[in-house]
Amino acid sequence: MNTLKDINIDNKTVFIRCDFNVPKDDDGNITDDRRIRGALQSIRYCLDRDCKVILASHYERPEPGVYEEKYSLKAVVTRLHTLLKLASDIQLASDVVGEDAQSKAKNLQAGEVLVLENLRYEAGETQNDSAFAKELASMVDVYINDAFGACHRAHASIDAMARLFPKEQRAAGFLLNKEVNFFEKTLANPIRPFVAVVGGSKVSGKLEALRQLLDKVDKVIIGGGMAFTFLKAKGYEIGNSLVEDDLLDEARTIMIKARKKGVKFYLPVDVIVAPEFSDTVPAKYVASQEIPEGWMGLDIGPASSRLFRTVLGDAQTIIWNGPMGVYEMDKYAKGSSKMSHNIADSNGTTIVGGGDTADVALRAGDVEEMTFVSTGGGASLNLIEGKKLPGIEALKA
Ligand code: AMP
Repeated sequence: MNTLKDINIDNKTVFIRCDFNVPKDDDGNITDDRRIRGALQSIRYCLDRDCKVILASHYERPEPGVYEEKYSLKAVVTRLHTLLKLASDIQLASDVVGEDAQSKAKNLQAGEVLVLENLRYEAGETQNDSAFAKELASMVDVYINDAFGACHRAHASIDAMARLFPKEQRAAGFLLNKEVNFFEKTLANPIRPFVAVVGGSKVSGKLEALRQLLDKVDKVIIGGGMAFTFLKAKGYEIGNSLVEDDLLDEARTIMIKARKKGVKFYLPVDVIVAPEFSDTVPAKYVASQEIPEGWMGLDIGPASSRLFRTVLGDAQTIIWNGPMGVYEMDKYAKGSSKMSHNIADSNGTTIVGGGDTADVALRAGDVEEMTFVSTGGGASLNLIEGKKLPGIEALKA
């Protein structure tokens, strides 16, 4: 896979597929701009080489063809302008490959930036449509993919478009390259003890990643909703906690495999339970063996946090994916923020993957303390699972 530095881009019109799918609050303010900041290095590199730079990204999931303000990249462009500190304006086309985009692309000057509107306004994007890919490609000389967070999807701007360019005119941007290198190198050659911390809602979403990790790590810590499937598989009463009954056998198999391989497997020893999925009802701490009938576990308890801290004490590499509880509600956020602090305090290499997990680290004020916070949730999970990412395969083809 070529990276930006391997190809000649001087004075060319360069397309950079970015991942500007950033979270916003109810008022439309961007709450976490790491994905925009992550793209700056590639953009600046191109601008310094007198390129005309055309940026494109999807934003959430609009209805194709329906231009709604909330799906526009307008706020992204404003933030990008602030971060790039450009003297000139950044132009935003009102469409993707329509009249406005085409005419703005044609009139773009060296050192200027044009952002196309949300790629998903065009139905062809998610359909990996070759005609749409050709229209995008016709505007530029060089294709760069820097959208790690979107690389696990074979969409037109990620897959079909990349394949239209000869090898010397396509490359990975700096962010994409860094993400892939980090995961591949860490997983291939971890410094031990290597600990995986896995949480989040369901076992099913992370089953394959768990299986793969068991072959690589020395210890696994499980938290979040998925812990209850494992606790139930061990014969505990879990009340109304989140559970996947069809995966109980699978959970047992994973725990047996861990034992056989000598991988230490840790589950929460206490949890915070509430009678409802709500933060306005009384909640209490109970041992994992004592979840009352009708109550549900919504966070790990303080004894679990202390146990997990000890387990992480000698770790030299930590990979973390998934919150320890329903962190969106303050009442059940403590287990996740304590886990974030514990990981951030480690002297080892610490890798945080997944949008929710990165959000926990951000809220806990730990992002700067982590070795690496990935900008891609699904994509980083796929890398851990050993899957090939369409975006990377297209660049390698
Ligand atoms: P995932 O997308 O699988 O990483 O899951 C993240 C989600 O898991 C977050 O929205 C959390 O609120 C949710 N979650 C974590 N712990 C629990 C729990 N004990 N019960 C229900 N949902 C949970």
